[in-house]
Order: sequence, then structure tokens, then C-alpha cells
Amino acid sequence: MQRPRVLVVALGGTIAMTVDQTGRVTPSLTAQQLVDAVPGLADAGLDIDVLSFRSQPGASLTIADIIELYGEITRRLGGGLTGVVITQGTDTIEETAYLLDLLHPGPQPIVVTGAMRNPTQAGADGPANLLAAIRVAASPAARDLGCLVVLADDIHAARRVRKSHSTSVATFVSPNGGPLGHLVEGSAIIVNRLPGRHTLPAPRDRLPRIGLYTATLGDDGSMMEGVARAVDGLVVAGFGVGHVPEPWLPALTTVGARIPVVLTSRTGSGPVLAGTYGFPGSESDLLGRGMIPAGLLDPYKARILLMLALAAGRDHEQISAAFAAAGGLGPVTDWP
Ligand code: ASP
Repeated sequence: MQRPRVLVVALGGTIAMTVDQTGRVTPSLTAQQLVDAVPGLADAGLDIDVLSFRSQPGASLTIADIIELYGEITRRLGGGLTGVVITQGTDTIEETAYLLDLLHPGPQPIVVTGAMRNPTQAGADGPANLLAAIRVAASPAARDLGCLVVLADDIHAARRVRKSHSTSVATFVSPNGGPLGHLVEGSAIIVNRLPGRHTLPAPRDRLPRIGLYTATLGDDGSMMEGVARAVDGLVVAGFGVGHVPEPWLPALTTVGARIPVVLTSRTGSGPVLAGTYGFPGSESDLLGRGMIPAGLLDPYKARILLMLALAAGRDHEQISAAFAAAGGLGPVTDWP
């Protein structure tokens, strides 16, 4: 039987950081160096290809970097890879993983991982996370699940995963539904599946500019209006189930007539609702003014979906259907 072949791509991040002359850590390790540092990998019965694609902190990766990376991955998947592992800064995994998930229609798993402790620290988690990610990428159990995030032996769906703590090694969680599975004695065990898998084409030209604006106590809406003027689409992270201050309404109504405005919750988990509250600025008021509910999709992922949907030329109705499907509260079959 042919051995599984996994491509490991390095983008930088804490997992690849070493101490510089100032005594602080910066990204420097290559994909080969990361692979060489994993105990037991040589005996795992796998073939590993490596690619050092970027050497950046997570904060400096761009949407264009990930789109370019996906183009490279697509070319290499044609050569018979079982799966792909991407190592990167954990700061932006929530977004890069969901972007890859939306771009990737194929059966091979794309698994994103990183580390919270850099390689110079006691108990560095990079090697264990990389080994776990490689095992998931090589596993038949992970086929057809799109893009996954693997850290601390948990397997998360890109659509759900959140970074929930700034330093804990157990930072990655899936608050809306839980992880898809776990590593048990080195094997990927899937205990949970998402309904539907949704993809959109990679943008070819200019990326739409999508603003993300968070509702805060007493905000009169003028800054939101300023942001909206500079963008092609806006995600609002509202209070609770999708509420904004009443003084926003005239401006938000005007903005919503010009560009798509997607309503999410700033709480970090749970859905925006549709028809429970009836006061001015409530979720039902905002949806009545044409805002698009994101369901269970968090603000950061909603921004990525809106960007790809606009880049693909989807209209207001199609974008609403996409959010209903991806947000988990509407028919998964209506994906445009
Ligand atoms: N703390 C981050 C990490 O875990 C830094 C980064 O995102 O580059 O990698």
C-alpha cells in the first residue's frame, strides 16, 4: 500500500520563532526545521514534503498571501498528496483557516496548526501540534471535511474555531457545537460533523474592502458611518443577539441601501436572532432594514465570507442565502 504523503507549509508564527539579538522571538525556522524537530515523525510511516512559503507573524499575513498559497496547494494536490498541513501564527488562524475552507472544494484535508509557546520555552507545544496536524492530514477520517484546525489534540472545523485566550495552550475552542474530533493515541477520531460544505471561487482581481465595526456603549454611529464610507461591505458586531444603539439607525439605513451590511454578535458565541426583540436597533428592526443575519458565524469569519461573496459577484439575495447556510440557521442547500 502507498504511504500517505503530506505537504507541510510554513508561514511563520510562534511555532517557528527563535530568539534574535534583542532577546525577543521572531519567525525564522523553515518548514524543514519544524519537521526535523518533531520526535517520532520519522517512524510514523509517512512521506513529508516541505515548503517554506512565508516567515511572518500571524498579524502580518494577508488575504492575498493565503489566496496565493491556495493556488500553490492546488497545483501540488494534483501530484497525489494525501493532505496538507500549514504552520502559522495562531493570532490569525481563525481567519486564514476559514478562508482556506471557503476556497477548497477538494477531498484532501488542509490542516492549520501553530503553537502558543515558542521553541525556546519549556513545554513548547509546536512539535506535538505539528505531529497531531500531520496525523490528521494523513488520516482517511479527515477526508471531505475541508479545512481543519488542530491544536492541543483537538480537531476544529475552520468555520467554528475561535482563539479564546491570548496565552493558554488550550486557546482554540469551538463554542458553537464543539470540536469535530480529537487525537486519541495518535489517531484522528471524528465525533461530530458540520452540515454542508461551502466554497466560493478565489478572487482574481482587486479584493473587496470589508469593514468590521463593533457596537459599544453610547456610540452615536458617526464613526461607523465613516468606516462604511471607505468599504464595499460592512460587518457589524452588534450587542448580544444583534442589537445596536438607536442613534445609528438613520446612518445604518443609508449605508445598508448602498452596500451589504452583515449583522453578527460581539459576544464570541451564540447566534444573532431574527424576531425576538422589537425596539429600534433590535435584531428584527435591523433585518427589516435589509441587514443580513450571520447566524452563528462570528464577525471575523463573516468578514471573510462577505469578501469572497462580493468578489464572486454575488447579489444581496445570494449573499443572504450564503450567510443562512454558513451561519447554520438556514437551508444548507441554498448556498449560491
Ligand atoms: N502568538 C502568535 C502565535 O501564536 C504570534 C503570531 O500569530 O505570529 O503564533
